[in-house]
Amino acid sequence: MKQIVLGSRNPKKLKEMIALLGDLPVEFTDLSPYPEAPEVEETADSFLGNATRKATQLATALQTWVIGEDSGLCVPALGGAPGIYSARYAGIHGNDEANNDKLLREMAHLTGEQRAAFYVSVAVLANPRGDVVATVEGRCQGLIATERRGTGGFGYDPLFIVPAYGQTFGELPPAVKQQLSHRAEAVKQLRPILERLLSKN
Ligand code: IMP
Repeated sequence: MKQIVLGSRNPKKLKEMIALLGDLPVEFTDLSPYPEAPEVEETADSFLGNATRKATQLATALQTWVIGEDSGLCVPALGGAPGIYSARYAGIHGNDEANNDKLLREMAHLTGEQRAAFYVSVAVLANPRGDVVATVEGRCQGLIATERRGTGGFGYDPLFIVPAYGQTFGELPPAVKQQLSHRAEAVKQLRPILERLLSKN
């Protein structure tokens, strides 16, 4: 195992994953050296389904190890929305401002514990044949603020209050998010699996 492709086109997500795994003795790369990489459609009905699609389709196409990750925000009081549609909640993929505005609108009538939410990150490791080798899931519990606070992170972070700090991921230093986030939790589980595979090859 010489290289692992992080199968995402979200630069902020990639930065977080490199910060969490970059010290391992393997070359991590994004998709930029692979202009021929297919655009994987997120057509599954779960985070696991979409992360699996990303990992296995890219691994097969590029014939290399791939980590596919799918993540999102779930609000139980909204029946789990935005969930797997987090990136395109307001219609246009990746329009964080519109997504945050829609979330504030949808939650305007909710107070206290009804504003509970959690982030989910599912990461899937696929080998160069496209077989799933590992699947991990991390979660991070929080509350949705009534207005944006801070400019750090990405996506819903200016609205996501971490109860232990009383601040949003938009306000907290990146190092705190790197400790507590759903992605950090998922990657903490992936690390020993990668270490074992690296010691064999
Ligand atoms: P994906 O790239 O299809 O996994 O979409 C992930 C979407 O979920 C992002 O566009 C954000 O809207 C949301 N999301 C996932 N992780 C985070 C995070 O760490 N902070 C804020 N929003 C996130």
